[in-house]
Amino acid sequence: MVTPRPELLSDLQQDLVRLQALEEIRNAFAWLRSHEPQFASWQLQAARIPAPPFGESARGDWLEARFREQGLDDVHRDDVGNVFGIHPGVGATYVALSAHLDTVFPAGTPLNIRQQGTRLYGPGVSDNGAGVTAMLAIVALLRAVQIRHSLPLLFIGNVGEEGEGDLRGMRHIFSAPRWRDSIHYSLILDGAGSDTIVAEALGSRRFEVIVRGPGGHSWTDFGAPNPIVVLSRAIQEFARTPVPASPKTSFNIGVIRGGTSVNSIPESASMRVDIRSTSMAEMERLEHALRAAIDRAIEEESRAIESRAPAQKRPFGVSCEFVPIGNRPAGELNANARMLQVIRAVDAQLGNVAQVQRASTDANIPLSIGREALAIGGGGIGGGAHTLQEWFDCSGRELGLKRILLTLLMLAGAGE
Ligand SMILES: [Zn+2]
Repeated sequence: MVTPRPELLSDLQQDLVRLQALEEIRNAFAWLRSHEPQFASWQLQAARIPAPPFGESARGDWLEARFREQGLDDVHRDDVGNVFGIHPGVGATYVALSAHLDTVFPAGTPLNIRQQGTRLYGPGVSDNGAGVTAMLAIVALLRAVQIRHSLPLLFIGNVGEEGEGDLRGMRHIFSAPRWRDSIHYSLILDGAGSDTIVAEALGSRRFEVIVRGPGGHSWTDFGAPNPIVVLSRAIQEFARTPVPASPKTSFNIGVIRGGTSVNSIPESASMRVDIRSTSMAEMERLEHALRAAIDRAIEEESRAIESRAPAQKRPFGVSCEFVPIGNRPAGELNANARMLQVIRAVDAQLGNVAQVQRASTDANIPLSIGREALAIGGGGIGGGAHTLQEWFDCSGRELGLKRILLTLLMLAGAGE
């Protein structure tokens, strides 16, 4: 490998070249290289403990024990079950490294976590076994090898990232007075890989919309309002709402339900709607369009009933309920943000190629309040996320761990 002349490198790259030349960093890399069996063992242990949404406490107990074993300071849990530990430094602000503990798999899912050669198999082994393991690897490294840095490092195993968890763990952390203003940078480890940088937070709003009416017999009560018809009209109108390609925005009606039998006028009909965008304003606009489509559909049904022959007229009595079932804020990291420059410089230094991506992760919460945050993988290679066939291959984990370490140290002020 040809080392470019120092005068051609940016300040960040020069800092990185100096950092990598330090004996302590060479020792750290050697330590990471020789401890893969330990990492795989932690990953299997973590994945064998069920952690369904709202049921992460056993896995949290396990992580808390590892944090204590590795000598972190102030190891504790908060009210929702997030696990914290601190590696001390100088200064009042933190660089946080976090990984979500929860999986998408409901309680009772057979886990059957196993290893064959460099491959680990089973639900949750990669998402987020890989992230939790990479975080622990860094914690253990900092204990084994003395590495100088300024800012203290805050390690977090958080709850509630997946699905109905709706980022509740991160939301809680960034609403707590102790952390809200003290976490300066958040590096979030989610899943496997070293080839992505999530710097744009894809927001989402999800609703269950329930339309109710008096119901009745299809023959004797003919003329009564029909919630399925109201819902269908609303869907037809809402589905015509234009959405921009940029900022990328989408909507989906994923589930519809309603009615009991072919000869009954239904008492209710419901749908589940998913709205996504990187722009808060677009999500706002689509939510408004959805509510307006429902209002108009109800009005239309009311007019349809009024226009019937007197003998067919029935009391109207239609109501609609909007139940929010998900709300993830949008946001993005400024292109000049230090965190983005640091990870790009680290990737250049390691010869790693990574793409900036847009996704919904724990980074949504800090990004939505203007904090610097990125989500990256824990190294290795993974596949089949959110399926029972999920797998993780430990080959290449070392690159991912070096990437995480250098990024953290650059953010925390290394070698100082
Ligand atoms: Zn994940």
